[in-house]
Amino acid sequence: MKLPICQVGEPVLRQVARPLSVDEIRSAAIRELIEHMRETMRAAPGVGLAAPQIGESLQLAVIEDRPDYIDRLPKEVRTVRERSPVPFHVIINPHLSIPEETTIEFFEGCLSLSGFTALVPRVHAVRVECLNERAEPVIIEASGWYARILQHEIDHLSGRMYIDHMHPQSFMSLENCSRYWEDKDIGEVHAILRTTGQNLSEGS
Ligand code: ZN
Repeated sequence: MKLPICQVGEPVLRQVARPLSVDEIRSAAIRELIEHMRETMRAAPGVGLAAPQIGESLQLAVIEDRPDYIDRLPKEVRTVRERSPVPFHVIINPHLSIPEETTIEFFEGCLSLSGFTALVPRVHAVRVECLNERAEPVIIEASGWYARILQHEIDHLSGRMYIDHMHPQSFMSLENCSRYWEDKDIGEVHAILRTTGQNLSEGS
């Protein structure tokens, strides 16, 4: 079942979600929720969906970066974003740590801010300790676009959204992003938008 996706302004998107117990994770209700979230994410389409986005304040998110999404991108975009397929999986009660502080910036979107995008700095690599849908402990070491997806989804579980981290001057419609900005180097985008911050790739 495809579920409606909450848009920015819904209080649930700003709440800290609660962790799930092992018994809950193994329940039919959570199994069903995961199935509905998988369908909703694929229909959107999106590469991640957190439970608060469908109105459930629970520490659970689904992630999947499908080969057909990536095949559509120009090769240089795939390379610079370090984007490669990620099979469908579930993260529950995640704890994120940062092995190195290197940050990297790209335009990022969110299904709960439909139609918009902005430049968002994220750390290049993360380590996530969580449970899977069978309540087994899992450790994920990720870098590149997958690390970005994990940071984005785990933010949702703490009531945070990308607009909390973005360069505000770079907030724009997806339509205008593809019309004016998408093909530009990030350094050039910063220079034109007069974006302030410490992550300029071409000085300030
Ligand atoms: Zn989102």
